[in-house]
Amino acid sequence: MTIVPNQFFPGDSKPLLVQGAGFQKERREYDVEVSEELERRTKRWREKKYETFLPSVICSAPGATISNIEFVSPVALRATISIPKTCPIGNYDIVVTNPDGAQIVGSNVLQIQSLPNGQIKCRKCSVLMPKPVDIPKNAAERKTWFCPNPACNWHQSITP
Ligand SMILES: [Zn+2]
Repeated sequence: MTIVPNQFFPGDSKPLLVQGAGFQKERREYDVEVSEELERRTKRWREKKYETFLPSVICSAPGATISNIEFVSPVALRATISIPKTCPIGNYDIVVTNPDGAQIVGSNVLQIQSLPNGQIKCRKCSVLMPKPVDIPKNAAERKTWFCPNPACNWHQSITP
C-alpha cells in the first residue's frame, strides 16, 4: 500500500489518496415489510432495500482521524486525514478494513515530520513561515506577521 502524500506535519488536515489492492465496496440487499396500505395496493408484503458499505481506514498515529472516505476503485480510496498538533514524530501504519472484515495493512507508510527549525505553520492555511522571533522588549511599534501564501489572509499582531 502507498499513500499520497506520505509526509505530514503535526496539526495537518489534508486530503489523502490510499493506493493498494483488494479494496471492497459492498452492496447488501435485504427485505423489509411494507406498510399495510402499500400491501393493499401492490399485493406485495415485502420489498427490497439496499445499503452500501465502504471500507474503514484508520491510522496508527495517536489521535489521528480519517474521515470522508470515498471509494474510487478496488485499488484507490480517497479520504481526509487530521493529525493532532501533539502527535509524536515517527512512521505510522494505515489499516483499511473491508466490509467483510478483511484488513489490508500498510506498515510505516505514513511519516510525521517535525516542523523545520525556526518555522511555524500558518493557523489558517498550514503554509510554513518563519517563526516570529526577537521581539525587542522596549520597541513601541506593533509587529505584524503575514502568511506568505497570497491566497491566505492570516496575520498576527504582537505588541512587544
Ligand atoms: Zn496562511
